Amino acid sequence: MLYTSTRDNTIRVTSSQAIAQGISSDGGLFVPMQLPQLTLQQLQELCALDYIGRAKAILPLFLTDFAPERLAACVDMAYGSNFAHADTAPLVQLDEQQSVLELWHGPTLAFKDMALQLLPHLLTAAAQKTAPDKQIVILVATSGDTGKAALEGFRDVENTKILVFYPHEGVSDMQKLQMVTQEGQNVGVCAVSGNFDDAQTGVKQIFTDPAVGERLAANNMQFSSANSINWGRLVPQIIYYVSAYCDMLNARSVRLGDKVNFVVPTGNFGNILAGYYAKCMGLPVGKLICASNANCVLTEFIETGVYNRKRDFFTTISPSMDILISSNLERLLYAMSGDDAAQVNAWMASLQQTGQYTVSPALREQLADTFAAGYVNDAETRAQIAHTHEKYGYVSDPHTAVAFAVYGDYVNETGDTTPSVIVSTASPYKFPASVLQALQPQAEISADPFEQLQMLQRVTKTSCPVQLTALREKKVRFSGVCTKDSMRAEVFSLLGLA
Ligand SMILES: *Cc1c(COP(=O)(O)O)cnc(C)c1O
Repeated sequence: MLYTSTRDNTIRVTSSQAIAQGISSDGGLFVPMQLPQLTLQQLQELCALDYIGRAKAILPLFLTDFAPERLAACVDMAYGSNFAHADTAPLVQLDEQQSVLELWHGPTLAFKDMALQLLPHLLTAAAQKTAPDKQIVILVATSGDTGKAALEGFRDVENTKILVFYPHEGVSDMQKLQMVTQEGQNVGVCAVSGNFDDAQTGVKQIFTDPAVGERLAANNMQFSSANSINWGRLVPQIIYYVSAYCDMLNARSVRLGDKVNFVVPTGNFGNILAGYYAKCMGLPVGKLICASNANCVLTEFIETGVYNRKRDFFTTISPSMDILISSNLERLLYAMSGDDAAQVNAWMASLQQTGQYTVSPALREQLADTFAAGYVNDAETRAQIAHTHEKYGYVSDPHTAVAFAVYGDYVNETGDTTPSVIVSTASPYKFPASVLQALQPQAEISADPFEQLQMLQRVTKTSCPVQLTALREKKVRFSGVCTKDSMRAEVFSLLGLA
């Protein structure tokens, strides 16, 4: 199977080229030329397998130029022992209509582990085919979760190095601790004085600086990208939609062929797009419900067909969804416009020049057939955390609570009783202060993150994942702070080229 670009569909690359390259040279995103199909019979057969078995069956359908044994080895390294739950991505049934798909049992307690535990292995396999003997250098600018997930994914992966820059004042205490104590021989972490944009701009400049590229090449190194537009981050996410459906079948919540809705807390549109691809492959999906916080650019787009990023930006208690430009939407536009790369180019040019674009009525109709959308503010999110805990004894993080709340609104408006899966993207212990404020609005909450973890354990009678409590004892390895202009020197120094 070959891949093309959303902005030039005369391009043809293999899956390993798509993953090694990350983004197409025309600025477009790589997409498969056609999607593999899953029959109900195949779905039935997948029910007998565990998550790892399902992953080994699905990945080769997309990554056709990798040896199946090599892919199987990648899957074992990614999901074999790195997840704290035997089911990798367990489905928890709350009542007849609602189940929760928990995607946060990986090393960093957020759904990004589902892809970032696998991507480094796919990337090294791909690079061996496209550029043998070169060392891959991953540069990441992070506002929090992605940096840690990428560090854990790449740590001690052969022939790779990873360098993460985070804004000095822009991440939570816990997120900072997670990064500066990172273990591994091939990792580097540095704070940048300034905000996320400073870190991001600095990384982009280094990435495209020809002098840096030459210096790396002379040392047998090359840059690659681990961000969420890489196809290697999207394809692992398709697996858990299929797996969740199998678990619904095994639990007899649905019969083979019955439809299931998925409710997805959405930022960059990567997670929900994987659900769309699963539906296009033949998975019986009813509605894909796109849940947003106060940054409701996607709700408006799905409801009106107008994408408009010229709006106020809100900092919310679900920070991983504080996004105004959802990069992966480009792949949906390409698919729904009938692979019309010229049209995608026009929309993206309009977004860049005017801050908005409007899709055709026909595309709007397709959007409405496939998606529903809604958003809630922080107060509604906190109320939902309290409500879900009271009603089901289930503790959810703020991102997952946004999905629960939007789903409640959707059911009220539509009366749809289709069995539905709430996609849960983070452990509540990643956001202890917000969850405690929701559950105990009157209580005094300590400013110390470790005290907050203790208190959350007491209040919810659940146990805190050991990755977080263990941080207290870990040695700080990376205390450096650089400026935007000294990032380049920092990269050379961290790579041992200074
Ligand atoms: C990244 C992230 C999201 C958003 O996912 P997208 O694929 O960007 O839509 C939601 N919740 C959490 C906890 C995340 O880390």
